[in-house]
Amino acid sequence: MATAPEQMATADGQVVCAVGQGTWYLGDDPGTREEEIAALRAGIEAGLNLIDTAEMYGGGRSEDLVGAAIAPVREQVYLVDKVLPSNASRSGTIAACERSLRALGTDWIDLYLLHWPGPYPEAETVAAFEELIERGLIRSWGVSNFDPGDLAVLPAGPLVNQVLYNPSRRGVEVDLLPAHRAAGITTMAYSPIEQGRLLDDPTLAGVARRHGVSVAQVLIAWAVREGGVIAIPKASTVAHVRENAAALELRLDADDLAAIDAAFPAPDGPVPLEIL
Ligand code: NAP
Repeated sequence: MATAPEQMATADGQVVCAVGQGTWYLGDDPGTREEEIAALRAGIEAGLNLIDTAEMYGGGRSEDLVGAAIAPVREQVYLVDKVLPSNASRSGTIAACERSLRALGTDWIDLYLLHWPGPYPEAETVAAFEELIERGLIRSWGVSNFDPGDLAVLPAGPLVNQVLYNPSRRGVEVDLLPAHRAAGITTMAYSPIEQGRLLDDPTLAGVARRHGVSVAQVLIAWAVREGGVIAIPKASTVAHVRENAAALELRLDADDLAAIDAAFPAPDGPVPLEIL
């Protein structure tokens, strides 16, 4: 039987839950702001202490919403933010971080990621990250959407690589996840619910029925089944967030995993890293 750790320590010594909270598209609609803030807070209360945002999301609206949601409980939250590659020059990264901190209304970001490989030399961005750590504005740095070749040219090891991972996107199992394990890089699995596109899948529905859970819960449990992976589903309602937190108790057994393998086989060899 596979086991999923409910909590895991990142290499920077902070303890984070293996299920976090994504925020892409949160904050876009003023009409749902209060409900979204309530959802993020319910998640924090349920132990989902990692919140993932980016300066790209809604052009800062997600950061603004996250800032409002976490203000009363900032110390309890492990806050992840991302700099746009087009801003990731040495001075641009510093300016972007300072802008994000203002939008978030906080003094520090726990983990700051380069959103995807971009036009500036990685060494420049990493030098800026190191300066931000020295200034206490961020605690750690990492990357996102980096394939094994992109990781190889980094001047130092990132704490995390955040990549697309769910049963319909298993290419990372071939080369990237083993590379992460070998290098001590934590994998952060984004779009673990494939943005809703897998919720009607008959195989996943069958696994969910056997356990009396939802397909979303099966997908979250699947993403974190082997440890070393943090899944960051995005949910806009308290009900969805609570359901996602309860997925931490779900253990998929060998029959479940075999059914999912048969319906969603991993590729035989390396494939280009998929991104959303
Ligand atoms: P996702 O988490 O795979 O799917 C989100 C969808 O699942 C939403 O429609 C949500 O509905 C629904 N959902 C959530 N919980 C549910 C539940 N219990 N039952 C039924 N439906 C449920 O997609 P995502 O937002 O693309 O990915 C998650 C996060 O990863 C993002 O928000 C973002 O923080 C990050 N991300 C990073 C990158 C990158 O390039 N680094 C790219 C994509 C995403 P409701 O909203 O109605 O609850």
